Amino acid sequence: MSSRRGSSARGSQVRGRAVGIDLGTTNSCVAVYQRGRAVVIPDEEGRRTTPSALARSPQGAWLVGWKARLAREEGSTCSVISVKRLMGRRLAEVASDAGRVGCPVSERPDLNISIHLGSASFTPQEVSARILLRMKEIAEKGLGGTVTAAVITVPAYFDHQQRRATQDAGRIAGLEVLRIINEPTASAIAYGMDRTGDRKVAVFDLGGGTFDVSILDIRNGVFEVLATGGDTHLGGDDLDWILASHLAKACVAETGIDPLAEAELLPRVIRAAEGAKIELSTAEAATVRLLLGRGSAFETVVTRRELEGLIRATLARTVAICHQVLADARLTGRDLDDLVLVGGATRIPLVRRLAAEVFGREPRGGVDPDEAVAIGAAIHAGMLSGEADGALLLDVLPLSLGVETVGGVFRSIIPRNNKIPVIRGEVFSTAQDNQAAVNVHVLQGERDMAQDNRSLCQFQLTGIEPAPRTVPKIEVTFDVDADGILHVAAENLHTGDAVHVDVNESLALDPEEVERMVETARENWEEDKRRRDHAIAVTDLACLAARARSRLALHRDALPASKRLAIAEALERAEALCSSGDTERILASTDQLYTLCAPLRGAERCEGMVGEPGLVDTREGAAP
Ligand code: ADP
Ligand code: MG
Repeated sequence: MSSRRGSSARGSQVRGRAVGIDLGTTNSCVAVYQRGRAVVIPDEEGRRTTPSALARSPQGAWLVGWKARLAREEGSTCSVISVKRLMGRRLAEVASDAGRVGCPVSERPDLNISIHLGSASFTPQEVSARILLRMKEIAEKGLGGTVTAAVITVPAYFDHQQRRATQDAGRIAGLEVLRIINEPTASAIAYGMDRTGDRKVAVFDLGGGTFDVSILDIRNGVFEVLATGGDTHLGGDDLDWILASHLAKACVAETGIDPLAEAELLPRVIRAAEGAKIELSTAEAATVRLLLGRGSAFETVVTRRELEGLIRATLARTVAICHQVLADARLTGRDLDDLVLVGGATRIPLVRRLAAEVFGREPRGGVDPDEAVAIGAAIHAGMLSGEADGALLLDVLPLSLGVETVGGVFRSIIPRNNKIPVIRGEVFSTAQDNQAAVNVHVLQGERDMAQDNRSLCQFQLTGIEPAPRTVPKIEVTFDVDADGILHVAAENLHTGDAVHVDVNESLALDPEEVERMVETARENWEEDKRRRDHAIAVTDLACLAARARSRLALHRDALPASKRLAIAEALERAEALCSSGDTERILASTDQLYTLCAPLRGAERCEGMVGEPGLVDTREGAAP
């Protein structure tokens, strides 16, 4: 247990520059908001994106970005790419991806993945941190000053653990991670869609190894992902392989040498294929020249039409996924206001045509597809540090958050529709004398009784010093950060003991689920109130009876026998009533017992404690 307070680190002022970073599977890009607009910061050689690769040279130097990519192409086995596929995952979950990163991986005792580069090993977060450090360095050289903070993007489908791992990578790189935002959201911001009223936008992102498509609903600066889909093994690299195989066949036919079968030639033919693919995005034909060693070479011309014939079947998979995502969002292309293309591979004319066809509209122009994500992140960083104005991505809590109090009553701590980030705390106490522990049960929902809401997590705060009920002060703090992650802290205000828990469940539910839960709460309003009042009445009476019984034992000699008998009888009736469903009689019995027990000091009424900032559920962990 630590006595750290949950929220003090947040809300600090951004001191150095804040940038936006697209931490891509294949390539990363950094941009900054300055003089009223976001611009990409090129590296020392003027290149605007940086391969997300890390390698170790034979001399033992660490190489990041282009140098690492080059080392890899020259056959280095001590290199890693596509580490984003492993972020925040267990090895068993990414077995097929582990083979794509290009070096051995294993699982550590803490279940994190270990990436082995020669004698050194890294977690995916540490590798990503190296890449982020390189992006930070590019930004600092380009801007001539220190960069301390960043907005980093992740795919919309990334879960809590994957976002958390990305955040950790930023921290390891010494960056204050201002916010983790969704890549499609960043792209929409880059196209200025946060300022153009309410819109529904399709974001089609075809990168090096992954395809993602999202439908966003943008309203008053709030970006909601209506549906997402994709294929984590479909991207520009696959197209390179297809073209490389085609080139290899032609090469075999002409020279008898199969470049795909020779370790040394393989990277060359892949690189040649990628070069031709890129050239064919603007040219109708491209000449490919492949050095085969010993002075021989193979040369051929590929036309755009040929390339299209080769890759059409693979690209058809994107079309099927887009149809599925439209169906999931219950929309047709006609319902959309815009189509945005992102990712280097969307420069391919055939990709653009297919996307335009499936969504029934021409893609929005004006922003570079491989820079859009970083540009959007930079605009967002600018808004957060006050340089850019515009709508912040004010997300709201879809449902209330609270805890279970004694009697199974739900007590809301942050109401639904509250904007995030938000921090709220309430002080609770124990329900029994000498209670040594409280059970903190965190729930989400609109119903009065805890059991009807969605349980998010439970934990205990133990070590409460012996004290009469209601005396210990336990502060429960809910901190929903800007990434929508809920951090809960329970602190014993007397001792400073605290337990901190990060809730792994996502707070963002499917809008239909939210609507259903709100509607059920509305329909059951009366019945819920009745159950709640009843639970509170039972708790009141049970508390009072328990207290009165212990006082009666203590002060029995001070009371006349008739009075003692009356109290004892009333106590028995009261205790029997507690298990009845008759709220009216329970309330009447509480009044009667209270009046009868007036001479027994200390048997005060419990009324008002439950449901008020008063009691944490005490059914578990209560002292005997
Ligand atoms: P990621 O988001 O996965 O990091 P990128 O968006 O940087 O990836 O896309 C990388 C892919 O885009 C690579 O396969 C690359 O060959 C391809 N690409 C980049 N520029 C072009 C172009 N002009 N024409 C076709 N493909 C391109
Ligand atoms: Mg990308």
